[in-house]
Amino acid sequence: MGKIKASDAVVGLFEKWGIDRIYGIPGDSIDTMVEALRKQESKIKFYTVRHEEVASMAASAYAKLTGKIGVCLAIGGPGAIHLLNGMYDAKMDHVPMLVLVGHIPSKLTGTDYFQEVNTVDLFKDVAVYNKEVTSAESFPAVANQAIRTAYQKRGVAVLSIPDDVPTGEISDQALQLNTVFEKKIPGLVEDDLSDAVALINAAKNPVILAGVGSKHAKKELKAFAERISAPVAVTLPGKGALPDEHPNFIGNIGKIGTKPAYEAMKSADLLIMVGTDYPYAAYLPEGAKCVQIDIDPVKIGKRYSVTTGIVGDAAEALTYLTSHVTPVSDRPFLKTCQEHMAKWWSWMDEDKENKKTPIAPQAVMKAIQSIADDNAIFSVDVGTATVWSTRYLHVTNQDFIVSAWLGTMGCGLPGAIAAKEAFPDRQAIAICGDGAFAMVMQDFSTAVHYKWPLIVVILNNKQLSFIKYEQQSAGQLNYGINFGDIDYAKFAEACGGKGYRVEKYDQLHDAFEGAKNSDVPVIIDVSVNADAAPLPGKIVMDEAKGYAKFASKSVLENHKLEKMPPMKDVVRHFL
Ligand code: FAD
Repeated sequence: MGKIKASDAVVGLFEKWGIDRIYGIPGDSIDTMVEALRKQESKIKFYTVRHEEVASMAASAYAKLTGKIGVCLAIGGPGAIHLLNGMYDAKMDHVPMLVLVGHIPSKLTGTDYFQEVNTVDLFKDVAVYNKEVTSAESFPAVANQAIRTAYQKRGVAVLSIPDDVPTGEISDQALQLNTVFEKKIPGLVEDDLSDAVALINAAKNPVILAGVGSKHAKKELKAFAERISAPVAVTLPGKGALPDEHPNFIGNIGKIGTKPAYEAMKSADLLIMVGTDYPYAAYLPEGAKCVQIDIDPVKIGKRYSVTTGIVGDAAEALTYLTSHVTPVSDRPFLKTCQEHMAKWWSWMDEDKENKKTPIAPQAVMKAIQSIADDNAIFSVDVGTATVWSTRYLHVTNQDFIVSAWLGTMGCGLPGAIAAKEAFPDRQAIAICGDGAFAMVMQDFSTAVHYKWPLIVVILNNKQLSFIKYEQQSAGQLNYGINFGDIDYAKFAEACGGKGYRVEKYDQLHDAFEGAKNSDVPVIIDVSVNADAAPLPGKIVMDEAKGYAKFASKSVLENHKLEKMPPMKDVVRHFL
């Protein structure tokens, strides 16, 4: 029986679990682990970022794209604190993550030592597994437990590792840990399935709402929707579950969604929810029957009154339903939805054809589409960029990721970093507002350093435009939303990348063609019209009242009246 350092044993364990990349920043309290990683650098790549938040957000995006565990690492104290945002992103979007944070030497715990932060307390709310490693002997077993828990519970596992623990010598028997784990997928219940079939057969106006939990079942979703001639709406992270150009597609649901999706929901008599925990009940049908398919029993009936719940995998359930329902080839309800959708697309196309300067964000979406490969990865940031991308990009086979539940600004660039690093042969395009990009911009230089030729498109309006419209629709005056200007194209060049500053519509085409052919990371910094309004697909009465209150308050308080959205847009989204 030989001896091995605990850190080497744990790195060996990572290899057994298929962990082959870690994002982070080394430093004192975690350096004993970093040293072990250095020795295995041909098997596990360690990528140094400029800010720990980018490490955790990239790890989260990696997990969203691959289904594999994302791993990040930082020193204790400040480094650990910086990781929090990406950790919450993983927690809330239910993806597995392993976090390694350093900790002061065990013999000094509790002495108010330099950078002593109680990381176990710090991560209590975010983690599904959260332990301080107390001995070299237990380190591999604890690490093994952390990884299997992160996978099983689709959440964040954290190991706080006192500086001295990884260097301890242990028996090499520790390497014989079992890295197999069985993920239990609930078997489908026959009675639920036949109840669902009966409901589907009886429905006149069924609508499918597909969430991110249906994205692995694209083929099955398409077959089912076609079999029963039902319209399909998607949630924000569900975008791509059915290609935007499919004849049954009626767009996204919700504020950032389409008017046809809103209308279809309002006249549906059966809602079929597939892999979704969609939260905004006001956009769902009133009093319709409901079939819900979800792998997690806790989700059945959580948001909507469910008539029949099917607990199980979406692909399996849809396959069963497709082969047991009565086929419908001609459904007047679908025809009506398709007529609404044709009108909606004509509006969207008209917006994308806007050739004016200042540039319409919708025209930028057209430019992105013109260079996007069929298997590109779109990493969409939070803000008005979310609205423009969701509404105007036609996703076919591309991946589309976003910080859906945490809604953190600054997720666009880390997502593109993870995408380009993990899939070097695919295009990675980050679509960001200037406010969001500036939160993580230092890590553009990481992409340059590692030669990841991703493309960042910045919709630069020098303001927090999503907040601007939130304030307006709530009847508040705009306050605290404006920024100074940064020339992000110059910044790109300063980092060693390529930069295009686009101020006029006529410059768009050349910038995007240049970016497509670049072999270094690129920023396209587009000055967009700050008054382009991300109106809801369907303006509801409360929002209309809010806008009216904002306009009258502006006059009464002698506030500089921000430009209101064009009347034709307001009318088309309201009526
Ligand atoms: P989740 O909530 O993650 O649910 C996925 C479900 O799938 C889970 O219940 C899970 O158990 C289940 N599942 C997983 N695997 C399987 C499987 N194999 N088989 C079956 N089930 C499975 N969202 C909108 O839709 N509309 C909006 O207008 C909107 N506006 C937003 C605006 C901003 C600026 C931001 C940041 C976010 C916005 N969101 C919007 C996102 C919103 O907050 C929610 O995150 C989103 O609606 C949830 O989508 P989901 O139900 O697909 O994902």
